[in-house]
Amino acid sequence: MLPLQPAKELLGAACRITGAFALYRLLLRRRVTILVYHNPSPTAFGRHLAFLSRHFAFITLDDLGEALSRRDFSGLPPFPLVITLDDGHAANYRLLDAFKTSGVTPVIYCCSGIVGTSRRFWWNSGIGDVEFLKTLPADKMQALLKKETGYEPEREYETRDALSAAELIEMLPYITVGSHTRFHPILPQCDDSRCKEELTGSRADLERLLGRPVRHLAWPNGDYGARELQIAAAAGYTTIRTIRHGWVTPDSDPLDLRAVEVQHDASLDVLRAEIIGINAFLKRFFGKLYKK
Ligand SMILES: [Zn+2]
Repeated sequence: MLPLQPAKELLGAACRITGAFALYRLLLRRRVTILVYHNPSPTAFGRHLAFLSRHFAFITLDDLGEALSRRDFSGLPPFPLVITLDDGHAANYRLLDAFKTSGVTPVIYCCSGIVGTSRRFWWNSGIGDVEFLKTLPADKMQALLKKETGYEPEREYETRDALSAAELIEMLPYITVGSHTRFHPILPQCDDSRCKEELTGSRADLERLLGRPVRHLAWPNGDYGARELQIAAAAGYTTIRTIRHGWVTPDSDPLDLRAVEVQHDASLDVLRAEIIGINAFLKRFFGKLYKK
């Protein structure tokens, strides 16, 4: 059991019993909720989608992008919600039936250097302290990964971490593909040329692979600064999703979309608490003690 998990369950149940979730949901009638997933199990994800479809209307990120460009949400259904999945994990393919059944068209933000290959995400290299690695300049991080685990970004392994090209293409009618850079570096730790290559190269790679425009970006690990924003805007992305907690209104900057991170195996009570922001609130106050 994660620390504070019982407290989260309790808070979630309170949201349901007191009607706090139902009341708060009314505030989301004209705001867009963007949920952030990574690698959920089909069972938990299917349960979430069934719940969400009763309380929200699934829209695509393209719908949201267009509404934002007009600064007018009147064409969106009430309680609009976008589902996003980060990284392009191989097991996302097992969610395809859930996408079809629920009618959701999620965004899968793919690392173009990893999807369609048998390369690994760097954090799956077997390295111990992933959080420490994120604090290092990108070249030092890569050198340490190679020394400690033999990991190299372009090394092919026996099993793959990410979706294959065939899987992505089969899923294409049911998903929107966005970019999540090529190799998921911590962008502010990269030098200028690597940063540019990751942001512009990833978009070009995915467009070549899929034969369709790629307009959306999500920052790896949620990390970015003024330089990253400038490069991404010049690369032609029309929306960028952050992991800063919040909702999207007609006045939101399309290149600074706020979102709600979801614990994959969350019970429906915890999901309620996530959606109305109680967990994000607790996380801010308890910091590192509070693990999602
Ligand atoms: Zn990611």
